[in-house]
Amino acid sequence: MIPGAAEYGVDVTIDERAVDDLLAATPADVDPAPALSFARNVFVPLTTACRYTCTYCTYFDPPGEAELMSPEAVRAVLETGADAGCTEALFTFGDDPDARYERIHAQLDEWGHGSMHDYLREMCELALDVGLLPHSNPGDLTREEMATLAPVNASMGVMLETTADVDAHAGPREKSPGQRLATIRAAGELGVPFTTGILVGIGEDWADRAESLLAIRELHERDGHVQEVIVQPVVENERWRGGSPSRGALRRAVAMARVALPEAVSVQVPPNLAPVRKVLDCGVDDLGGVSPVTDDHINPDYAWPALEDLEAIADEAGIPLRERLPVHERFLPSIFGAGGGGDGREGGEDGGREWLAPPIERAITADDAAGARYRAVLDSRASGASAD
Ligand code: SF4
Repeated sequence: MIPGAAEYGVDVTIDERAVDDLLAATPADVDPAPALSFARNVFVPLTTACRYTCTYCTYFDPPGEAELMSPEAVRAVLETGADAGCTEALFTFGDDPDARYERIHAQLDEWGHGSMHDYLREMCELALDVGLLPHSNPGDLTREEMATLAPVNASMGVMLETTADVDAHAGPREKSPGQRLATIRAAGELGVPFTTGILVGIGEDWADRAESLLAIRELHERDGHVQEVIVQPVVENERWRGGSPSRGALRRAVAMARVALPEAVSVQVPPNLAPVRKVLDCGVDDLGGVSPVTDDHINPDYAWPALEDLEAIADEAGIPLRERLPVHERFLPSIFGAGGGGDGREGGEDGGREWLAPPIERAITADDAAGARYRAVLDSRASGASAD
């Protein structure tokens, strides 16, 4: 039983034979992707407060030191991103700050917000006003919290990381695999295109990695909502001295992800967090986001590569690099030409399901500069043009 699954009512059970089958997968079993995709985004690290204390994480700050971006600071980042031609506002987040973060709660209260999620929703609305499509990663969410945020997000995400009970998550505020799965399930039930992933090297074993990928697949098979699965190696930093996975281990993990997931679900390896050139032939088809204007606030030790670096990676592999929106085309209504291709489940149908919330669809169809920017990305994908 996956830890926390019963507590959060997640009925995901993984067949041991399926785990064994996936454990046999190697890089020799997968083909290199025919193209690579990426999105132009800006990071908005809304708060560095987090109720958890994962031992490999340099993102969170303790109470008294954690920051909360003001609406003015958020607007400045968003406007810079829109001016630079980005399409995505990537709201990064510690998990919901607990009661220890008195200063954060006092500040939220002063700005008229009862919770971080309430504030996040307002900042997503601001992003749409400024001309960017929000993609929020606010950690674990209840179904009600997800429902509050879904209408103002083009897509959302949370890393599953692992279904294993690892020491790196232990302590008085322990992150629960069951709760993560409940968040991913809520996204599917509410029709939110979703990004998740595994973190490799935090104490899990190979069977745990296989189980994690199969759990993601099972939730995707129910609702068809998973658009990308990130395979990210843990890296050494001032809080983590547990080492990083070897090149061979990372190659095997990426290949397992490609074998485990339906073709329509992208396997993403972000070049700022992993040696992507060394694993590109293992089925990677997405490089995540590239930001021309801000640093990578999730892992400040690793600089986000410039767009030229992504082009160099694609050139060396001899495959095209194509820009995408934060929501993948198959979730878009067929009026957008590139979309309407079903929900990505093996043999699945979308059943006419509407994945885009009205504010997001209005933003993409709007007769303004931002709408034109979004549609230009879709047009370039429909025509098969590579990124400039
Ligand atoms: S990895 Fe995420 S949940 Fe864990 S401490 Fe860092 S910000 Fe919080």
